[in-house]
Amino acid sequence: MSSQKRKVMIIGCGIAGPALALFLKRAGIEAEIYEARETTDGLSLSLSCNGVAVLQELGLDRAAFAEGSAVTRWLMRNGRGKPLGGGILAGGGLKSVFIKRAPLTMLIADEAERQGINIVRGKKLQNIEVTSQGDVVATFQDGTNASADILIGSDGVHSRTRQIIDPAFPGAIYTGLINSGGYTSGIAVASPPETVHFIFGKRAFFGYHVTPTGYIYWFTNQPQEEEPAKGVFDGIADEERKQQMLELYRDDQPIIGEIIEAAETTFPYFLSYALPRQPGSWHKGPIALIGDAAHAISPSSGQGASMALEDAIVLARCLRDIPDLEQCFTTYEQLRRERTVKMFEVGERGDSGKHAIRPMQQWFRDLTAPIFLKLFANPKASDWMFSYRVAWDEPIGAHTAGSNERREIGGAIRM
Ligand SMILES: Cc1cc2nc3c(=O)[nH]c(=O)nc-3n(C[C@H](O)[C@H](O)[C@H](O)COP(=O)(O)OP(=O)(O)OC[C@H]3O[C@@H](n4cnc5c(N)ncnc54)[C@H](O)[C@@H]3O)c2cc1C
Repeated sequence: MSSQKRKVMIIGCGIAGPALALFLKRAGIEAEIYEARETTDGLSLSLSCNGVAVLQELGLDRAAFAEGSAVTRWLMRNGRGKPLGGGILAGGGLKSVFIKRAPLTMLIADEAERQGINIVRGKKLQNIEVTSQGDVVATFQDGTNASADILIGSDGVHSRTRQIIDPAFPGAIYTGLINSGGYTSGIAVASPPETVHFIFGKRAFFGYHVTPTGYIYWFTNQPQEEEPAKGVFDGIADEERKQQMLELYRDDQPIIGEIIEAAETTFPYFLSYALPRQPGSWHKGPIALIGDAAHAISPSSGQGASMALEDAIVLARCLRDIPDLEQCFTTYEQLRRERTVKMFEVGERGDSGKHAIRPMQQWFRDLTAPIFLKLFANPKASDWMFSYRVAWDEPIGAHTAGSNERREIGGAIRM
């Protein structure tokens, strides 16, 4: 069966799902998306320039910059204001963008619908069966089902698809960070343009970005070794949460308190999860995983959404060009695994500094961070992250043992 004749069912309409559907549509492959939730929400995120490159391929980069705010560098200091270092958030001629999650996901989903791709909401995947004819049948929590030739699980870090194809695989692991954040306007906060500020506070990490209009996106990462019990944050009102956060940063630079105090809204606490470093296979028979479902990395990497978008374009190229499904999925996984493992390590390193809450640990971090950050600030050191590009038009060949990503795509990746 040629790949063009296959019908693909995509589970999850977050970031990877609708992007994959759009690339498949371009390849002439029919796709339909099934999403558990009726609406989307969530905090802002920094979409790195390598993810912006995928949006650019979809013609959605301008809309993303119109909705969000361009960022090209980060600056880090400790809670007393001591500068620790800085680096870039741009590469290959593109900037990164700070954007709210809901508009980003809706941007991609709306474009998918505009192009005639069917998105069925309120469909929570419960089970998958492969019939003796090779059809994949998904059953949803509401008792309905749907079938296709191929099923792609883009259902996020707690992926049901992954649980079904690899029940032995351990689930996502709590990274030890509790997150919140919000949006603030109406106060004047000085900042160089296109900059994300990171502050290692005494008890928690704080990040913020001031847009050209003075609007402030901000987030908090609070270390807590033990995973909080389910429901422990339920029912905390906005004002109470604000007071808790003000208390958390009371010994740090006053700017943090001012931003929190003036917030128009804050987000309920939620936890960071990542998958263990070397998950099992990303595919089984006619089923494959992309995005967080395959390789969730810590949010501290600032790369999870970009990895999801890169997966989407790479998998769509594989489905377009490699008729044999086993070869297709194997090629896709081999093209993506090394890079996502490297990003996992970036996230791990990012997390480790945020867990330093003892004075001695903080003293050591503040002493050594400028040395490490100076190395990282060299654009060459982060080029592998930011200048990665996938050329849609480049044909892709079946992956053979021993070949690597750069060789496989050849001129398609500029490192
Ligand atoms: C606190 C935090 C901050 C982050 N900050 C950044 C950042 O700054 N930069 C960055 O690049 N990344 C960031 N990330 C990571 C980023 O959000 C993810 O990597 C990205 O959303 C992954 O995209 P995805 O499409 O794979 O999954 P998701 O965006 O999670 O989408 C999965 C979709 O599947 C749906 N779904 C789940 N289960 C089912 C089911 N059973 N049936 C049907 N549908 C289902 C969900 O409702 C959801 O819509 C952050 C994550 C967190 C938690």
